[in-house]
Amino acid sequence: MRMLIFGPPGAGKGTVAGQVTSEEGIPHISTGDMLRQAVAAGTELGRTVKGLLDAGELVPDAVMIALVGERLEQADAQDGWLLDGFPRTLPQGEALAELLARTGQRLDLVALVEVADEVIVERLGGRRVCLACGATYHLTYSPPKVAGQCDRCGQEQVVQREDDQPETIRRRLATYHHQTEPLIAFYEAQGVVRRFDNSGAPEEPVRAVRAARRRSRKRRPTDTRFFFITSACRPCRRSIASSLTIRSRTSR
Ligand SMILES: [Zn+2]
Repeated sequence: MRMLIFGPPGAGKGTVAGQVTSEEGIPHISTGDMLRQAVAAGTELGRTVKGLLDAGELVPDAVMIALVGERLEQADAQDGWLLDGFPRTLPQGEALAELLARTGQRLDLVALVEVADEVIVERLGGRRVCLACGATYHLTYSPPKVAGQCDRCGQEQVVQREDDQPETIRRRLATYHHQTEPLIAFYEAQGVVRRFDNSGAPEEPVRAVRAARRRSRKRRPTDTRFFFITSACRPCRRSIASSLTIRSRTSR
């Protein structure tokens, strides 16, 4: 099983990925974790990445592609994997498709864990953290006994992190949608996308992924010529489609 997982921050993607990879016995390859480890280990890549992140820049596609390419060559990834955090851009998606084609591998499933934006704002917006000891709370699900005061260490330093402020969450969600939608269209065209609603019980998407995994084993590959057409915006798609039709007519 070779699969990708997409989902907005706060959708519970990590839980789904953890369960699926342990059931399938495949590695959970999180590019976020790989980058953090490289930074912590102070490798050459880690130093480059740290420099970029400190400057508020994104890690370039070429670096990400090389990183993932190397990881997928390792022994534990030969019978399958779940990629989390990659691809994040269309060029990364195309590079992955090339790599898979070159090595004769097939992408079985793209799991899209979906939660309504409002639910995410509520989930993440209610989070509070103790600045003194790191204990975490949620105003609705697990509030501290005394508002603003930590149950564990007693300090009155239970606050909302910058990352969990509603405006920040909305901005992160907008970035996610903007980044992911072209990729989803790219994979929709390959017929491998399955959407899982994760607004309710966490076992629902895991069960749905299990069923989708069984179905995907029977799937046949689709025609690659159409991938790029449907990943384009509608007016572009129409003009590409019509130029293809004209070309195929004139070649006859
Ligand atoms: Zn505390």
